[in-house]
Amino acid sequence: MSSNGPFNTTLPNYRSQPQLLEGQAALVTGANSGIGRAVAIGLARAGARVAVNWVVGEEAANDVVAAIEKEGGKAVAVYADVSKEDDVAAMFKTAIEALGTIDILVPNAGLQRDAKVTDMTLAEWQKVMDVNLTGQFLCIREAVKEFDRRGVKQEVSVAAGKIICMSSVHEVIPWAGHINYAASKGGIQMMMKSLAQELAPRRIRVNAIGPGAIRTPINTDAWNTPEAYDKLMELVPYNRIGEPEDIAQAAIFLASDMADYITGVTLFVDGGMTCYPGFAEGG
Ligand code: NAD
Repeated sequence: MSSNGPFNTTLPNYRSQPQLLEGQAALVTGANSGIGRAVAIGLARAGARVAVNWVVGEEAANDVVAAIEKEGGKAVAVYADVSKEDDVAAMFKTAIEALGTIDILVPNAGLQRDAKVTDMTLAEWQKVMDVNLTGQFLCIREAVKEFDRRGVKQEVSVAAGKIICMSSVHEVIPWAGHINYAASKGGIQMMMKSLAQELAPRRIRVNAIGPGAIRTPINTDAWNTPEAYDKLMELVPYNRIGEPEDIAQAAIFLASDMADYITGVTLFVDGGMTCYPGFAEGG
């Protein structure tokens, strides 16, 4: 047993620390829309300085920066196509120059190119892999270099770095007609767990969030008419659609030292979608 006894007395006193992410810097990809936008604003509200990545929609990224600054936070918009190695390296350089370091990475950028298998082009398959999976790898690699360079700064966080991969319930729920998307999210799950194993000894925590049905532009057709919404609710035991802020709350928790003993897990934020509601009255 350590000299601290059974409890780790180096953990902060949360009651005296209302700003859970005070003094930390975060980079969120795809942060000018939907979930990424809410996560960027949420992390800033929790005290973090935030780099807001965008690839299309510079104005929307500047709006997120303005919203954070209006509340007294610090943010900077940073361009990169996350599937391009040089873009990602340049983005980290810019973000680290602007914010001092990166303590938290949320690789969130993602897209869908849906088609039945025999209709799916190689370009559609590849695009989803390039952005959803390779894009996360490229960002994680740059973030880990920075975490290793800086190491633990106890006054900021008890970990050297925190990575929160944006996955999906489709890392475990098969999804016909979306094989590229489901394969990319299944890939994120095993990349995340393998990274957690590799990086834990260096005090770097790697987790994922698995959103269910969240109200964003990626899935508008699934919720923007009463009929579509009712059909969607058949998959959601909690009987409401998720809001981007539901994901932001989970990201704040996983990024904070409150989650210091959590690594290698996906936190599903899905109103029970992964409870397979079709089995509630059958099976
Ligand atoms: P969204 O379309 O609102 O946001 C996606 C973001 O990714 C946008 O900002 C877009 O510009 C960005 N992006 C796309 N390609 C990029 C690239 N090459 N480089 C940089 N950025 C790029 O959708 P969202 O719902 O907010 O999705 C965010 C993440 O959440 C995605 O990874 C998605 O798979 C995941 N997710 C969403 C839901 C949901 O119900 N909305 C459910 C599960 C998982």
